Amino acid sequence: MSNIVEDELSRPSVFKDESKLSIDYVPENLPHRERELKQLARTFRMVLEKPGSSQRVIIIGNVGTGKTALAKNFGNQISAIANKKGINLSYIHINCRRERTSFTILNRVVKTLNPKIPRRGFSTEELLQILKEILEERNIHVILTLDELDFLLKREGEQLLYSLIRLFDEQLNVAQRLSLIGIMRNEILFRHLDPSVISSLQQNIIRLKEYSAAQLETILSERAKEAFHMGTITIEEIRFIAEIAAMKGDARYALEILWRAGKIADARNKTRVSPEHIREAKAGIYPVVRREVLQELPFQHKVLLLAISRTLTEDRAYITTSETEKTYRVICEEYNIRPRKHTQFWEYLKELEKQGIITTKISGVGMKGKTTLISLQDIPTSILEQEILNLLGGIK
Ligand code: ADP
Ligand code: MG
Repeated sequence: MSNIVEDELSRPSVFKDESKLSIDYVPENLPHRERELKQLARTFRMVLEKPGSSQRVIIIGNVGTGKTALAKNFGNQISAIANKKGINLSYIHINCRRERTSFTILNRVVKTLNPKIPRRGFSTEELLQILKEILEERNIHVILTLDELDFLLKREGEQLLYSLIRLFDEQLNVAQRLSLIGIMRNEILFRHLDPSVISSLQQNIIRLKEYSAAQLETILSERAKEAFHMGTITIEEIRFIAEIAAMKGDARYALEILWRAGKIADARNKTRVSPEHIREAKAGIYPVVRREVLQELPFQHKVLLLAISRTLTEDRAYITTSETEKTYRVICEEYNIRPRKHTQFWEYLKELEKQGIITTKISGVGMKGKTTLISLQDIPTSILEQEILNLLGGIK
């Protein structure tokens, strides 16, 4: 009995360093994105050479085309170079899906620059002014990346983008201290932006194409070298994964299959990843509730999803909101957190629906009164519960 943990920990694994496959890891090399990296470098060259000038860039591409990796990799490199040259430059990367509102986005930016700023009590307008003052006082240039900008635009429109673009533009002859990189998925949403916003970005649009099977193969090989022990996975298996993922051209999907296949090999006590593990890994990925979608949900949303997955037992297609709210309260107690009010609960529910994770409908005949019914169409409830528990385990 006492050896269970020790045995488990000393069991060999196909992984040398699993974290190299995690979503937040930024690889030092980005094969097949050299051209785009060069384009970013050319664009921002002026910011380094002529302090007081700024740039705006937009990166557009589908899921898993390397937008985030490209921006972060560039950010790391340009900060290091600026540092070496003694230029006061800071790269800040904000995920608009995680931060959700203009206010929280700005708060995060300001906090990154000055952790001592009190958290509450400012309006968005005031935060913009504070940001401007910090940049001027500290004589610093910030390259701010707004990643997953689609979410902010759909929620609040383009006001924040507009304000940020104009932050230093209103006065003549002042140093431009804020450069922007916007990252978006949706080309149509981009084309509907205000013409003044578009025209200020027009010069610098980087479009990332989906990766081909051959490109995914190099990407996977490089990542596998870092993550797996030698000999635990061969080029045959890597090619197999690349071909599967090439249907979508999505590197994230490819890496997720690779990672899951390794986990399955470990769970089966195998010393190598086999094609069968890959097939199994592929079958275990539910598109709407991919690892990163769930991971990026705010804590309260995760708790609510857990409540939904627990209320929805195997033989039920729909559950009511009131029974879900009851389970939600029990779980809050379990986790020792304060349950949110009904209106807030309702808002979380709507957001989960907007993200396509759950569906809701109004009850029809056969039920007393009208009530909203919740359903889960795209993933077995037991699997969702397990995934959420894994994530909450880390946060608690
Ligand atoms: P996007 O932001 O476009 O959805 P990401 O930048 O998150 O895509 O990329 C998805 C995953 O694939 C990340 O883990 C990233 O590190 C990896 N990735 C994407 N492109 C490359 C590349 N060219 N080389 C190595 N890894 C890559
Ligand atoms: Mg991204």
